[in-house]
Amino acid sequence: MLKLLIDKLEKENRLTKEEFAILIDNATEEDRQYLFSKARKIKERYFGNKIYIRGLIEFTNYCKNDCYYCGIRRSNKEAERYRLTKDDILSCCETGYSLGFRTFVLQGGEDPYFNDERMTDIVSSIKERYSDCALTLSLGERSYESYKALYEAGADRYLLRHETADSGHYSKLHPEEMLLSTRKEALYALKEIGYQVGTGFMVGSPYQTTEHICTDLEFIADFKPHMVGIGPFIPHHNTPFKDFKAGSVELTLLLIGIIRLMLPCCLIPATTALGTLAATGREMGVLAGANVVMPNLSPSTVRNKYLLYDNKICTGDEAAECRMCLERRMNSIGSVIAVDRGDSPLVTSSI
Ligand code: SAM
Repeated sequence: MLKLLIDKLEKENRLTKEEFAILIDNATEEDRQYLFSKARKIKERYFGNKIYIRGLIEFTNYCKNDCYYCGIRRSNKEAERYRLTKDDILSCCETGYSLGFRTFVLQGGEDPYFNDERMTDIVSSIKERYSDCALTLSLGERSYESYKALYEAGADRYLLRHETADSGHYSKLHPEEMLLSTRKEALYALKEIGYQVGTGFMVGSPYQTTEHICTDLEFIADFKPHMVGIGPFIPHHNTPFKDFKAGSVELTLLLIGIIRLMLPCCLIPATTALGTLAATGREMGVLAGANVVMPNLSPSTVRNKYLLYDNKICTGDEAAECRMCLERRMNSIGSVIAVDRGDSPLVTSSI
């Protein structure tokens, strides 16, 4: 019965909300393996056995927002705040370039210090020095003009998870000044400007139901992002959600498989959160349909300060160690790390 649903998903790239719910709530181990093998085949059709690496630079943990789930929320007075300078960021890129990275991801809290003037200067300096690299930004919500200025300065991609596509659920995860409608407007603006856009959500976030997840899948099917980042929610000890339990690895993997069938040529990371909950979480993510890993390029002096959740892995490693460790992990499951920009096939061909 569920195999028929999986076949339908593969053929039509979408199911009804009710069908998605049946799959999520009832998939047996056999159904899961059937889904994952289809997801791997589809991924191989577009990407072979290549896994793209993105060098993640967590350049500020100051944040003006107060998301209830996040360890760098403004109300966490215990968080030791830091900002990297432009020179620090360029030196992370230099290390990353020599390690074979051709995509850099600048991610941070929503830090007003990094206004358009400072941010466009950083973006254009990176692109001047590394013109063969793609630059991804993940800076949260900004104005249309700001997104446009950053795009014109050379940024290629933008990651902004929608977090949940149900507005009632959104308001349980965020304070009232944050709205799902604003987040969606930002996502549509990014796409209109010309960015390759990534969205996504946490699996097992507090109060999440199967129906919410089905709404997430519908939003993703309609929005058609170039990238989808999903990872399990993991509690942080100094947030309002400290006593909630973490999301499940199994459900995260199932959703990676489903999203691969929905968007065959999508870039889907096997996230650090998945690797935090299970020793081989990222390998399992790749075997379920993911095709991106994001080793950390942040200086080791600040890594243990960008703590979105408890027990985050790789906080003590050097950039080269992270890169080599992931290469070994990927090779162990028959995948190879690709040393090119790894753009979405949606923008590099007529797919
Ligand atoms: N400020 C930017 C933004 O809001 O998009 C980028 C940084 S934000 C910390 C990056 C992502 O971390 C969020 O989209 C959220 O899904 C994830 N995140 C935050 N807290 C988390 C937690 N406790 N468990 C798992 N993921 C979390």
